[in-house]
Amino acid sequence: MIWKENDNPYYNQNMTEFNGISSSPGYAIGKAFIYRHDKLVISHDYIPIDSVSKELEHLDSCFKSLIKEYKGYLDDAEGDSEKALYTVELLMLEDAEYHKSIKKLIEEKRYSAPWAAQEATEEIIRMISGIEDEYLKERIIDIRDIEYAILETLTGKRREHIEVTEPRILVADYILTSELLGLEGLENIEGIVLDGGGKTSHVSILAKSKKIPSVVGVNGFSSLLEEGELVIVDGEAGLVISSPTRKKLAEYEEKRQSLENLVESFDASSGTNGLTSDGRRVILDANIEWLEGVDDAISFGAENIGLFRTEFIAIKSDILNSRDKKDEIYMEAARRMVGHGDIVFRTLDIGGDKKADGMIAEDNPILGWRAVRYMLSHRKDFKAQMRAILLASKYRNVRIMFPMISGIEELDETLALFEECKDDLRREKIDFDEHIKVGTMIEVPSAALVSDILAKKLDFFSIGTNDLIQYTIAVDRGNDKTNYLYNPLHLGVLRLIRMIVDNAHEKGIEVGLCGQMASEILYLPVLVGLGLDELSMSPASLPAIRRYLSSLSYGDCSRLVNEVLSEDDPFKIERKVKEFLNERETRNKK
Ligand code: PEP
Ligand code: MG
Repeated sequence: MIWKENDNPYYNQNMTEFNGISSSPGYAIGKAFIYRHDKLVISHDYIPIDSVSKELEHLDSCFKSLIKEYKGYLDDAEGDSEKALYTVELLMLEDAEYHKSIKKLIEEKRYSAPWAAQEATEEIIRMISGIEDEYLKERIIDIRDIEYAILETLTGKRREHIEVTEPRILVADYILTSELLGLEGLENIEGIVLDGGGKTSHVSILAKSKKIPSVVGVNGFSSLLEEGELVIVDGEAGLVISSPTRKKLAEYEEKRQSLENLVESFDASSGTNGLTSDGRRVILDANIEWLEGVDDAISFGAENIGLFRTEFIAIKSDILNSRDKKDEIYMEAARRMVGHGDIVFRTLDIGGDKKADGMIAEDNPILGWRAVRYMLSHRKDFKAQMRAILLASKYRNVRIMFPMISGIEELDETLALFEECKDDLRREKIDFDEHIKVGTMIEVPSAALVSDILAKKLDFFSIGTNDLIQYTIAVDRGNDKTNYLYNPLHLGVLRLIRMIVDNAHEKGIEVGLCGQMASEILYLPVLVGLGLDELSMSPASLPAIRRYLSSLSYGDCSRLVNEVLSEDDPFKIERKVKEFLNERETRNKK
Protein backbone atom coordinates (compact mmCIF):
# COMPACT_ATOMS: atom_id res chain seq x y z
CA MET A 1 0.00 0.00 0.00
CA ILE A 2 1.24 3.48 -0.83
CA TRP A 3 0.63 6.15 1.76
CA LYS A 4 -0.59 9.35 0.19
CA GLU A 5 -1.70 12.64 1.65
CA ASN A 6 -4.76 12.53 -0.53
CA ASP A 7 -5.59 8.89 -0.82
CA ASN A 8 -7.97 9.22 -3.75
CA PRO A 9 -6.24 11.03 -6.57
CA TYR A 10 -8.38 9.46 -9.32
CA TYR A 11 -11.72 10.88 -8.43
CA ASN A 12 -14.66 8.74 -9.48
CA GLN A 13 -18.04 10.28 -9.01
CA ASN A 14 -19.80 6.99 -8.30
CA MET A 15 -17.51 5.95 -5.53
CA THR A 16 -18.64 7.23 -2.16
CA GLU A 17 -17.01 6.82 1.22
CA PHE A 18 -19.11 6.83 4.35
CA ASN A 19 -17.82 7.14 7.88
CA GLY A 20 -19.34 4.98 10.54
CA ILE A 21 -18.30 3.17 13.67
CA SER A 22 -16.28 0.03 13.39
CA SER A 23 -18.15 -2.60 15.33
CA SER A 24 -16.43 -5.78 14.19
CA PRO A 25 -12.96 -5.84 12.61
CA GLY A 26 -11.82 -7.16 9.25
CA TYR A 27 -12.52 -6.35 5.62
CA ALA A 28 -15.37 -7.51 3.42
CA ILE A 29 -16.08 -6.87 -0.24
CA GLY A 30 -19.31 -7.91 -1.87
CA LYS A 31 -22.70 -7.13 -3.29
CA ALA A 32 -25.29 -5.48 -1.08
CA PHE A 33 -28.28 -7.36 0.21
CA ILE A 34 -30.63 -4.64 1.42
CA TYR A 35 -33.06 -5.61 4.09
CA ARG A 36 -36.12 -3.44 4.63
CA HIS A 37 -38.33 -4.14 7.60
CA ASP A 38 -41.99 -4.93 7.15
CA LYS A 39 -43.76 -3.35 10.05
CA LEU A 40 -45.82 -5.81 12.07
CA VAL A 41 -49.25 -4.16 12.03
CA ILE A 42 -51.31 -4.74 15.14
CA SER A 43 -54.97 -3.84 14.94
CA HIS A 44 -56.30 -1.72 17.78
CA ASP A 45 -59.17 -3.85 19.04
CA TYR A 46 -61.07 -3.23 22.28
CA ILE A 47 -62.22 -6.42 23.96
CA PRO A 48 -65.57 -6.92 25.67
CA ILE A 49 -65.49 -6.98 29.47
CA ASP A 50 -66.31 -10.68 29.69
CA SER A 51 -63.24 -11.50 27.57
CA VAL A 52 -60.74 -9.85 29.92
CA SER A 53 -59.87 -12.95 31.88
CA LYS A 54 -59.54 -14.99 28.66
CA GLU A 55 -57.22 -12.32 27.23
CA LEU A 56 -55.12 -12.37 30.40
CA GLU A 57 -54.86 -16.16 30.20
CA HIS A 58 -53.81 -15.89 26.56
CA LEU A 59 -51.12 -13.40 27.59
CA ASP A 60 -49.86 -15.62 30.40
CA SER A 61 -49.68 -18.72 28.25
CA CYS A 62 -47.86 -16.76 25.53
CA PHE A 63 -45.27 -15.50 28.01
CA LYS A 64 -44.87 -19.00 29.46
CA SER A 65 -44.20 -20.50 26.05
CA LEU A 66 -41.80 -17.71 25.14
CA ILE A 67 -39.89 -18.11 28.39
CA LYS A 68 -39.57 -21.82 27.68
CA GLU A 69 -38.44 -21.10 24.11
CA TYR A 70 -35.83 -18.57 25.25
CA LYS A 71 -34.54 -20.90 27.96
CA GLY A 72 -33.98 -23.42 25.18
CA TYR A 73 -32.07 -20.78 23.15
CA LEU A 74 -29.99 -20.03 26.23
CA ASP A 75 -29.11 -23.70 26.69
CA ASP A 76 -28.06 -23.98 23.05
CA ALA A 77 -26.29 -20.61 22.91
CA GLU A 78 -22.76 -20.69 21.55
CA GLY A 79 -20.30 -18.46 23.37
CA ASP A 80 -20.70 -15.79 26.01
CA SER A 81 -22.20 -13.13 23.77
CA GLU A 82 -25.17 -15.23 22.72
CA LYS A 83 -25.62 -16.37 26.31
CA ALA A 84 -25.60 -12.77 27.52
CA LEU A 85 -28.14 -11.82 24.90
CA TYR A 86 -30.64 -14.54 25.82
CA THR A 87 -30.10 -13.93 29.52
CA VAL A 88 -31.06 -10.30 29.04
CA GLU A 89 -34.07 -11.14 26.88
CA LEU A 90 -35.27 -13.70 29.40
CA LEU A 91 -34.99 -11.11 32.16
CA MET A 92 -37.30 -8.84 30.25
CA LEU A 93 -39.78 -11.67 29.59
CA GLU A 94 -39.78 -12.51 33.28
CA ASP A 95 -40.00 -8.92 34.49
CA ALA A 96 -42.99 -8.57 36.80
CA GLU A 97 -43.37 -4.81 36.26
CA TYR A 98 -43.49 -5.27 32.51
CA HIS A 99 -46.22 -7.93 32.86
CA LYS A 100 -48.12 -5.68 35.21
CA SER A 101 -48.11 -2.77 32.78
CA ILE A 102 -49.48 -4.96 29.95
CA LYS A 103 -52.15 -6.49 32.17
CA LYS A 104 -53.21 -3.05 33.37
CA LEU A 105 -53.92 -1.98 29.80
CA ILE A 106 -56.02 -5.09 29.22
CA GLU A 107 -57.94 -4.76 32.49
CA GLU A 108 -58.42 -1.03 32.63
CA LYS A 109 -58.50 0.04 29.00
CA ARG A 110 -59.71 -3.25 27.49
CA TYR A 111 -56.97 -3.34 24.94
CA SER A 112 -56.49 -6.67 23.22
CA ALA A 113 -53.40 -8.53 24.47
CA PRO A 114 -51.26 -7.74 21.36
CA TRP A 115 -52.24 -4.06 21.43
CA ALA A 116 -51.50 -3.85 25.18
CA ALA A 117 -48.14 -5.58 24.78
CA GLN A 118 -47.18 -3.27 21.92
CA GLU A 119 -48.29 -0.16 23.81
CA ALA A 120 -46.44 -1.13 27.03
CA THR A 121 -43.26 -1.93 25.11
CA GLU A 122 -43.43 1.23 23.01
CA GLU A 123 -43.79 3.21 26.24
CA ILE A 124 -40.49 1.76 27.49
CA ILE A 125 -38.90 2.58 24.13
CA ARG A 126 -40.25 6.17 24.21
CA MET A 127 -38.87 6.62 27.70
CA ILE A 128 -35.43 5.33 26.73
CA SER A 129 -35.33 7.38 23.52
CA GLY A 130 -35.73 10.56 25.56
CA ILE A 131 -32.65 9.84 27.68
CA GLU A 132 -29.37 11.24 26.41
CA ASP A 133 -27.50 8.01 26.68
CA GLU A 134 -26.00 6.18 23.76
CA TYR A 135 -25.78 2.85 25.56
CA LEU A 136 -29.44 2.90 26.52
CA LYS A 137 -30.47 3.95 23.03
CA GLU A 138 -28.66 0.94 21.64
CA ARG A 139 -30.73 -1.28 23.92
CA ILE A 140 -33.86 -0.26 22.00
CA ILE A 141 -33.04 -2.83 19.36
CA ASP A 142 -32.96 -5.57 21.98
CA ILE A 143 -36.30 -4.44 23.38
CA ARG A 144 -37.84 -4.41 19.90
CA ASP A 145 -36.53 -7.88 19.43
CA ILE A 146 -38.56 -9.12 22.36
CA GLU A 147 -41.55 -7.00 21.32
CA TYR A 148 -41.61 -8.73 17.93
CA ALA A 149 -41.33 -12.16 19.51
CA ILE A 150 -44.23 -11.41 21.88
CA LEU A 151 -46.43 -9.98 19.13
CA GLU A 152 -45.74 -12.91 16.85
CA THR A 153 -46.67 -15.37 19.56
CA LEU A 154 -49.81 -13.46 20.57
CA THR A 155 -51.10 -12.98 17.04
CA GLY A 156 -49.78 -16.11 15.43
CA LYS A 157 -48.42 -13.90 12.61
CA ARG A 158 -44.84 -14.41 11.61
CA ARG A 159 -42.43 -11.94 10.09
CA GLU A 160 -40.83 -13.03 6.90
CA HIS A 161 -37.55 -14.80 7.52
CA ILE A 162 -34.54 -13.19 5.94
CA GLU A 163 -32.95 -15.54 3.52
CA VAL A 164 -29.59 -14.93 1.94
CA THR A 165 -28.67 -17.56 -0.59
CA GLU A 166 -25.44 -16.09 -1.97
CA PRO A 167 -22.48 -14.31 -0.41
CA ARG A 168 -23.63 -10.78 0.37
CA ILE A 169 -23.03 -7.70 2.49
CA LEU A 170 -26.09 -7.23 4.67
CA VAL A 171 -27.22 -3.60 4.61
CA ALA A 172 -30.16 -2.51 6.78
CA ASP A 173 -31.57 0.42 8.71
CA TYR A 174 -31.29 -1.74 11.81
CA ILE A 175 -31.41 -5.41 12.46
CA LEU A 176 -32.82 -7.25 15.39
CA THR A 177 -30.62 -9.80 17.05
CA SER A 178 -33.29 -12.47 16.58
CA GLU A 179 -33.38 -11.61 12.87
CA LEU A 180 -29.64 -12.00 12.60
CA LEU A 181 -29.59 -15.27 14.50
CA GLY A 182 -32.64 -16.62 12.68
CA LEU A 183 -31.37 -15.53 9.28
CA GLU A 184 -31.27 -18.34 6.78
CA GLY A 185 -27.86 -18.42 5.17
CA LEU A 186 -25.98 -16.57 7.92
CA GLU A 187 -22.83 -18.19 6.52
CA ASN A 188 -23.40 -16.10 3.37
CA ILE A 189 -23.19 -12.83 5.27
CA GLU A 190 -19.70 -11.50 4.61
CA GLY A 191 -20.15 -8.07 6.14
CA ILE A 192 -22.78 -5.93 7.83
CA VAL A 193 -23.53 -2.21 7.47
CA LEU A 194 -26.28 -0.60 9.53
CA ASP A 195 -27.67 2.93 9.46
CA GLY A 196 -28.00 2.97 13.24
CA GLY A 197 -26.58 1.06 16.14
CA GLY A 198 -23.39 1.36 18.07
CA LYS A 199 -20.36 -0.59 19.12
CA THR A 200 -22.01 -2.02 22.19
CA SER A 201 -25.26 -3.12 20.57
CA HIS A 202 -25.88 -6.81 20.71
CA VAL A 203 -25.84 -7.07 16.94
CA SER A 204 -22.30 -5.69 17.02
CA ILE A 205 -21.34 -8.15 19.71
CA LEU A 206 -22.79 -11.02 17.71
CA ALA A 207 -21.08 -9.85 14.52
CA LYS A 208 -17.80 -9.83 16.38
CA SER A 209 -18.33 -13.27 17.82
CA LYS A 210 -19.24 -14.60 14.35
CA LYS A 211 -16.20 -12.73 12.93
CA ILE A 212 -18.29 -10.76 10.40
CA PRO A 213 -16.67 -7.39 9.62
CA SER A 214 -19.21 -4.66 10.43
CA VAL A 215 -19.66 -0.94 10.45
CA VAL A 216 -22.63 0.66 12.21
CA GLY A 217 -23.95 4.20 12.58
CA VAL A 218 -23.70 4.94 8.84
CA ASN A 219 -26.60 7.38 8.69
CA GLY A 220 -28.98 6.82 5.78
CA PHE A 221 -26.71 4.33 4.02
CA SER A 222 -29.38 1.69 3.37
CA SER A 223 -31.62 4.14 1.51
CA LEU A 224 -28.80 5.44 -0.70
CA LEU A 225 -27.76 2.06 -1.96
CA GLU A 226 -29.09 -0.09 -4.79
CA GLU A 227 -29.64 -3.81 -4.33
CA GLY A 228 -26.56 -5.67 -5.58
CA GLU A 229 -24.32 -2.59 -5.56
CA LEU A 230 -20.70 -3.33 -4.74
CA VAL A 231 -19.67 -2.40 -1.21
CA ILE A 232 -16.43 -2.48 0.75
CA VAL A 233 -16.76 -2.82 4.51
CA ASP A 234 -13.67 -1.64 6.34
CA GLY A 235 -14.29 -2.87 9.87
CA GLU A 236 -10.79 -1.77 10.87
CA ALA A 237 -11.27 1.94 10.18
CA GLY A 238 -15.09 2.14 10.44
CA LEU A 239 -15.48 3.01 6.76
CA VAL A 240 -17.88 1.87 4.07
CA ILE A 241 -17.24 2.45 0.39
CA SER A 242 -19.95 2.01 -2.24
CA SER A 243 -19.20 1.51 -5.95
CA PRO A 244 -15.44 1.49 -5.41
CA THR A 245 -13.04 2.31 -8.22
CA ARG A 246 -10.90 -0.54 -9.48
CA LYS A 247 -7.94 0.99 -7.74
CA LYS A 248 -9.77 1.07 -4.42
CA LEU A 249 -10.99 -2.46 -4.94
CA ALA A 250 -7.48 -3.71 -5.61
CA GLU A 251 -6.22 -1.91 -2.52
CA TYR A 252 -8.86 -3.57 -0.36
CA GLU A 253 -8.41 -6.99 -1.96
CA GLU A 254 -4.77 -6.71 -0.96
CA LYS A 255 -5.63 -5.59 2.56
CA ARG A 256 -8.11 -8.41 3.00
CA GLN A 257 -5.74 -10.97 1.59
CA SER A 258 -2.85 -9.92 3.77
CA LEU A 259 -5.04 -9.93 6.86
CA GLU A 260 -6.28 -13.41 5.98
CA ASN A 261 -2.76 -14.63 5.32
CA LEU A 262 -1.55 -13.22 8.58
CA VAL A 263 -4.34 -14.78 10.59
CA GLU A 264 -3.92 -18.13 8.82
CA SER A 265 -0.16 -18.23 9.01
CA PHE A 266 -0.22 -17.13 12.57
CA ASP A 267 0.72 -19.82 15.03
CA ALA A 268 -0.02 -18.70 18.56
CA SER A 269 2.52 -21.08 20.00
CA SER A 270 5.52 -19.85 18.04
CA GLY A 271 7.36 -16.59 18.45
CA THR A 272 4.55 -14.30 19.47
CA ASN A 273 6.83 -11.67 20.92
CA GLY A 274 6.89 -8.25 19.32
CA LEU A 275 10.38 -7.44 18.09
CA THR A 276 11.82 -4.83 15.75
CA SER A 277 14.31 -5.87 13.05
CA ASP A 278 17.15 -4.57 15.26
CA GLY A 279 15.98 -6.51 18.28
CA ARG A 280 14.04 -4.02 20.39
CA ARG A 281 11.19 -5.63 22.33
CA VAL A 282 7.81 -4.00 22.10
CA ILE A 283 5.24 -6.00 24.04
CA LEU A 284 2.07 -6.48 21.99
CA ASP A 285 -1.07 -6.81 24.08
CA ALA A 286 -4.82 -6.88 23.55
CA ASN A 287 -7.68 -4.61 24.61
CA ILE A 288 -10.86 -6.45 25.48
CA GLU A 289 -14.32 -5.63 26.79
CA TRP A 290 -15.91 -9.01 27.48
CA LEU A 291 -14.85 -12.32 28.90
CA GLU A 292 -14.84 -13.92 25.45
CA GLY A 293 -12.27 -11.30 24.43
CA VAL A 294 -9.73 -13.34 26.43
CA ASP A 295 -10.06 -16.17 23.91
CA ASP A 296 -9.71 -13.78 20.97
CA ALA A 297 -6.64 -12.26 22.58
CA ILE A 298 -5.07 -15.67 23.03
CA SER A 299 -5.88 -16.83 19.52
CA PHE A 300 -4.39 -13.68 18.00
CA GLY A 301 -1.26 -14.20 20.08
CA ALA A 302 -1.52 -11.32 22.53
CA GLU A 303 1.29 -11.43 25.04
CA ASN A 304 -1.02 -10.07 27.74
CA ILE A 305 -4.40 -8.41 28.07
CA GLY A 306 -3.17 -4.83 28.31
CA LEU A 307 -6.61 -3.37 28.94
CA PHE A 308 -9.82 -4.99 30.12
CA ARG A 309 -12.46 -2.24 29.90
CA THR A 310 -14.58 -3.56 32.77
CA GLU A 311 -17.30 -0.92 32.41
CA PHE A 312 -19.04 -2.66 29.52
CA ILE A 313 -19.93 -5.69 31.62
CA ALA A 314 -20.88 -3.48 34.55
CA ILE A 315 -23.12 -1.18 32.54
CA LYS A 316 -24.89 -4.10 30.93
CA SER A 317 -25.38 -5.82 34.27
CA ASP A 318 -26.56 -2.71 36.11
CA ILE A 319 -29.13 -1.68 33.61
CA LEU A 320 -30.50 -4.91 32.40
CA ASN A 321 -29.48 -7.48 34.87
CA SER A 322 -28.82 -5.87 38.24
CA ARG A 323 -26.82 -8.99 39.06
CA ASP A 324 -23.22 -8.02 38.62
CA LYS A 325 -21.14 -11.13 38.25
CA LYS A 326 -17.80 -9.37 38.23
CA ASP A 327 -16.15 -11.65 40.82
CA GLU A 328 -16.79 -14.71 38.68
CA ILE A 329 -15.97 -12.99 35.39
CA TYR A 330 -12.65 -11.53 36.58
CA MET A 331 -11.69 -14.83 38.16
CA GLU A 332 -12.50 -16.76 34.98
CA ALA A 333 -10.65 -14.22 32.80
CA ALA A 334 -7.54 -14.48 34.97
CA ARG A 335 -7.79 -18.27 34.97
CA ARG A 336 -8.00 -18.39 31.18
CA MET A 337 -4.87 -16.22 30.92
CA VAL A 338 -2.77 -18.56 33.07
CA GLY A 339 0.13 -19.79 30.97
CA HIS A 340 -0.38 -17.00 28.44
CA GLY A 341 0.32 -13.73 30.21
CA ASP A 342 -0.94 -11.02 32.53
CA ILE A 343 -4.31 -9.34 32.53
CA VAL A 344 -4.78 -5.67 33.35
CA PHE A 345 -8.20 -4.90 34.80
CA ARG A 346 -9.02 -1.25 34.41
CA THR A 347 -11.45 -0.13 37.09
CA LEU A 348 -14.76 1.28 35.88
CA ASP A 349 -14.47 4.11 33.39
CA ILE A 350 -18.15 4.98 33.56
CA GLY A 351 -19.50 8.45 32.89
CA GLY A 352 -18.64 10.60 29.89
CA ASP A 353 -20.08 8.73 26.92
CA LYS A 354 -20.54 5.56 28.98
CA LYS A 355 -23.30 6.36 31.43
CA ALA A 356 -24.56 3.61 33.71
CA ASP A 357 -28.03 3.30 35.13
CA GLY A 358 -28.92 6.10 37.52
CA MET A 359 -26.04 8.40 36.58
CA ILE A 360 -27.13 12.00 36.25
CA ALA A 361 -27.13 13.91 32.98
CA GLU A 362 -24.39 16.55 32.88
CA ASP A 363 -23.85 19.60 30.70
CA ASN A 364 -20.30 18.57 30.04
CA PRO A 365 -20.08 14.82 30.62
CA ILE A 366 -16.68 14.41 28.98
CA LEU A 367 -15.22 16.81 31.54
CA GLY A 368 -17.55 15.61 34.24
CA TRP A 369 -18.19 12.94 36.80
CA ARG A 370 -16.36 10.16 35.09
CA ALA A 371 -14.20 7.12 35.96
CA VAL A 372 -12.12 7.50 39.14
CA ARG A 373 -13.88 10.79 39.98
CA TYR A 374 -17.21 9.04 40.03
CA MET A 375 -15.93 5.95 41.78
CA LEU A 376 -14.27 7.95 44.57
CA SER A 377 -17.73 9.28 45.40
CA HIS A 378 -19.10 5.73 45.34
CA ARG A 379 -16.54 4.12 47.57
CA LYS A 380 -18.52 1.01 48.37
CA ASP A 381 -18.80 0.13 44.68
CA PHE A 382 -15.20 1.10 44.04
CA LYS A 383 -13.98 -1.12 46.88
CA ALA A 384 -16.21 -3.97 45.70
CA GLN A 385 -14.56 -3.81 42.30
CA MET A 386 -11.05 -3.57 43.72
CA ARG A 387 -11.81 -6.57 45.91
CA ALA A 388 -13.04 -8.59 42.92
CA ILE A 389 -9.79 -7.78 41.09
CA LEU A 390 -7.74 -8.72 44.16
CA LEU A 391 -9.60 -12.03 44.45
CA ALA A 392 -8.76 -12.82 40.82
CA SER A 393 -5.13 -11.96 41.57
CA LYS A 394 -4.81 -15.33 43.29
CA TYR A 395 -3.72 -16.54 39.84
CA ARG A 396 -0.68 -14.21 40.16
CA ASN A 397 -1.14 -12.76 36.67
CA VAL A 398 -3.45 -9.85 37.47
CA ARG A 399 -2.71 -6.15 37.40
CA ILE A 400 -4.98 -3.24 38.29
CA MET A 401 -5.18 0.09 36.47
CA PHE A 402 -7.06 3.30 37.22
CA PRO A 403 -8.59 5.47 34.47
CA MET A 404 -8.78 9.27 34.16
CA ILE A 405 -6.36 10.02 37.00
CA SER A 406 -5.83 13.78 36.73
CA GLY A 407 -3.35 14.42 39.51
CA ILE A 408 -1.45 13.32 42.59
CA GLU A 409 -4.21 13.71 45.20
CA GLU A 410 -6.64 11.63 43.19
CA LEU A 411 -4.06 8.89 42.81
CA ASP A 412 -3.19 8.96 46.52
CA GLU A 413 -6.82 8.70 47.50
CA THR A 414 -7.35 5.80 45.12
CA LEU A 415 -4.24 3.97 46.29
CA ALA A 416 -5.30 4.39 49.93
CA LEU A 417 -8.63 2.78 49.13
CA PHE A 418 -6.84 -0.06 47.38
CA GLU A 419 -4.67 -0.61 50.46
CA GLU A 420 -7.86 -0.81 52.57
CA CYS A 421 -9.13 -3.58 50.29
CA LYS A 422 -5.88 -5.48 50.67
CA ASP A 423 -6.07 -5.09 54.46
CA ASP A 424 -9.61 -6.47 54.46
CA LEU A 425 -8.48 -9.57 52.62
CA ARG A 426 -5.47 -10.02 54.88
CA ARG A 427 -7.75 -9.81 57.91
CA GLU A 428 -10.10 -12.35 56.35
CA LYS A 429 -7.11 -14.53 55.45
CA ILE A 430 -8.14 -14.68 51.79
CA ASP A 431 -5.43 -15.36 49.24
CA PHE A 432 -4.44 -12.57 46.84
CA ASP A 433 -1.27 -11.38 45.12
CA GLU A 434 0.65 -9.21 47.61
CA HIS A 435 2.84 -8.06 44.69
CA ILE A 436 -0.01 -7.12 42.38
CA LYS A 437 1.18 -4.43 39.96
CA VAL A 438 -0.65 -1.13 40.06
CA GLY A 439 -0.80 1.36 37.21
CA THR A 440 -2.81 4.23 35.83
CA MET A 441 -3.99 5.37 32.47
CA ILE A 442 -2.33 8.60 31.46
CA GLU A 443 -5.05 10.25 29.44
CA VAL A 444 -5.50 13.64 31.03
CA PRO A 445 -2.86 16.27 30.14
CA SER A 446 -2.43 17.32 33.79
CA ALA A 447 -1.49 13.72 34.66
CA ALA A 448 1.03 13.70 31.82
CA LEU A 449 2.56 16.91 33.16
CA VAL A 450 3.02 15.43 36.65
CA SER A 451 3.87 11.95 35.42
CA ASP A 452 7.35 12.22 36.98
CA ILE A 453 5.66 12.29 40.40
CA LEU A 454 2.97 9.72 39.60
CA ALA A 455 5.62 7.32 38.31
CA LYS A 456 7.19 7.14 41.78
CA LYS A 457 4.02 5.63 43.19
CA LEU A 458 3.23 3.10 40.47
CA ASP A 459 4.44 0.05 38.58
CA PHE A 460 3.31 1.07 35.12
CA PHE A 461 1.55 3.62 32.94
CA SER A 462 -0.70 3.03 29.98
CA ILE A 463 -1.25 6.05 27.77
CA GLY A 464 -4.86 6.42 26.69
CA THR A 465 -4.44 8.42 23.53
CA ASN A 466 -8.15 8.31 22.65
CA ASP A 467 -8.73 10.64 25.56
CA LEU A 468 -5.30 12.25 25.75
CA ILE A 469 -5.77 13.58 22.22
CA GLN A 470 -9.27 14.84 22.91
CA TYR A 471 -8.25 16.63 26.11
CA THR A 472 -4.97 18.00 24.77
CA ILE A 473 -6.46 19.45 21.60
CA ALA A 474 -9.79 20.19 23.35
CA VAL A 475 -11.70 18.32 20.67
CA ASP A 476 -14.58 15.97 21.52
CA ARG A 477 -13.60 12.57 20.11
CA GLY A 478 -17.22 11.89 19.12
CA ASN A 479 -18.09 15.21 17.45
CA ASP A 480 -18.03 15.02 13.66
CA LYS A 481 -17.97 18.83 13.27
CA THR A 482 -14.58 19.15 14.89
CA ASN A 483 -12.99 15.79 14.30
CA TYR A 484 -10.79 17.25 11.55
CA LEU A 485 -8.80 18.60 14.52
CA TYR A 486 -8.46 15.17 16.12
CA ASN A 487 -4.92 14.42 15.08
CA PRO A 488 -2.79 11.76 16.78
CA LEU A 489 0.29 13.30 15.14
CA HIS A 490 -0.34 16.75 16.62
CA LEU A 491 2.99 18.02 17.86
CA GLY A 492 1.45 18.76 21.27
CA VAL A 493 0.31 15.15 21.61
CA LEU A 494 3.67 13.76 20.51
CA ARG A 495 5.52 15.98 22.98
CA LEU A 496 3.27 14.80 25.79
CA ILE A 497 3.81 11.13 24.91
CA ARG A 498 7.56 11.70 24.85
CA MET A 499 7.38 13.39 28.25
CA ILE A 500 5.36 10.54 29.77
CA VAL A 501 7.70 7.89 28.35
CA ASP A 502 10.80 9.72 29.58
CA ASN A 503 9.35 10.24 33.05
CA ALA A 504 8.32 6.60 33.32
CA HIS A 505 11.70 5.32 32.20
CA GLU A 506 13.56 7.66 34.49
CA LYS A 507 11.67 6.19 37.43
CA GLY A 508 12.18 2.67 36.09
CA ILE A 509 8.58 1.80 35.30
CA GLU A 510 7.03 0.33 32.18
CA VAL A 511 4.97 2.52 29.86
CA GLY A 512 2.50 1.30 27.28
CA LEU A 513 -0.16 2.81 25.05
CA CYS A 514 -3.67 1.42 24.64
CA GLY A 515 -5.51 4.00 22.52
CA GLN A 516 -6.73 3.30 18.99
CA MET A 517 -3.45 4.74 17.67
CA ALA A 518 -1.67 1.57 18.77
CA SER A 519 -3.49 -0.52 16.18
CA GLU A 520 -2.73 1.66 13.16
CA ILE A 521 0.32 0.97 11.05
CA LEU A 522 0.61 4.66 10.12
CA TYR A 523 1.50 5.52 13.72
CA LEU A 524 3.64 2.49 14.49
CA PRO A 525 7.08 3.94 13.58
CA VAL A 526 6.37 7.01 15.69
CA LEU A 527 5.23 5.00 18.70
CA VAL A 528 8.21 2.67 18.45
CA GLY A 529 10.55 5.65 18.07
CA LEU A 530 8.99 7.35 21.08
CA GLY A 531 10.22 4.39 23.13
CA LEU A 532 6.96 2.79 24.27
CA ASP A 533 7.49 -0.57 25.96
CA GLU A 534 4.08 -1.96 25.14
CA LEU A 535 1.23 -1.42 22.68
CA SER A 536 -2.24 -2.71 23.43
CA MET A 537 -4.89 -2.95 20.72
CA SER A 538 -7.94 -4.86 19.49
CA PRO A 539 -6.97 -8.54 19.19
CA ALA A 540 -7.58 -8.70 15.43
CA SER A 541 -5.05 -5.91 14.83
CA LEU A 542 -2.21 -7.86 16.45
CA PRO A 543 -1.00 -9.99 13.49
CA ALA A 544 -0.61 -7.00 11.15
CA ILE A 545 1.08 -4.86 13.79
CA ARG A 546 3.41 -7.68 14.82
CA ARG A 547 4.48 -8.28 11.24
CA TYR A 548 4.98 -4.60 10.50
CA LEU A 549 6.91 -4.13 13.71
CA SER A 550 9.35 -6.84 12.69
CA SER A 551 10.14 -4.89 9.51
CA LEU A 552 10.95 -1.67 11.37
CA SER A 553 14.26 -0.77 12.91
CA TYR A 554 14.14 0.99 16.27
CA GLY A 555 17.13 3.08 15.21
CA ASP A 556 15.30 4.40 12.14
CA CYS A 557 12.14 5.01 14.15
CA SER A 558 13.98 7.05 16.79
CA ARG A 559 15.60 9.16 14.07
CA LEU A 560 12.17 9.72 12.52
CA VAL A 561 10.76 10.82 15.88
CA ASN A 562 13.64 13.23 16.51
CA GLU A 563 13.02 14.80 13.11
CA VAL A 564 9.27 14.96 13.64
CA LEU A 565 9.58 16.50 17.10
CA SER A 566 11.70 19.33 15.75
CA GLU A 567 9.35 19.97 12.82
CA ASP A 568 7.43 23.21 13.03
CA ASP A 569 5.19 22.64 10.00
CA PRO A 570 2.28 20.38 11.06
CA PHE A 571 1.64 19.19 7.49
CA LYS A 572 5.21 18.02 7.18
CA ILE A 573 4.88 15.72 10.18
CA GLU A 574 2.32 13.48 8.53
CA ARG A 575 4.13 13.70 5.20
CA LYS A 576 7.39 12.60 6.85
CA VAL A 577 5.73 9.64 8.52
CA LYS A 578 4.11 8.53 5.25
CA GLU A 579 7.36 8.95 3.34
CA PHE A 580 9.07 6.85 6.00
CA LEU A 581 6.47 4.08 5.55
CA ASN A 582 6.61 4.22 1.76
CA GLU A 583 10.38 3.96 1.83
CA ARG A 584 10.16 0.90 4.09
CA GLU A 585 7.61 -0.74 1.79
CA THR A 586 9.67 -0.09 -1.31
CA ARG A 587 12.78 -1.41 0.41
CA ASN A 588 10.97 -4.52 1.66
CA LYS A 589 9.60 -5.30 -1.79
CA LYS A 590 13.05 -5.30 -3.36
C1 PEP B 1 -8.09 5.79 25.73
O1 PEP B 1 -8.63 6.79 26.20
O2 PEP B 1 -7.19 5.83 24.88
C2 PEP B 1 -8.51 4.45 26.17
C3 PEP B 1 -7.85 3.37 25.82
O3 PEP B 1 -9.61 4.35 26.94
P1 PEP B 1 -11.13 4.49 26.39
O4 PEP B 1 -11.08 4.44 24.90
O5 PEP B 1 -11.84 3.35 27.01
O6 PEP B 1 -11.53 5.83 26.94
MG1 MG C 1 -9.85 6.70 27.93
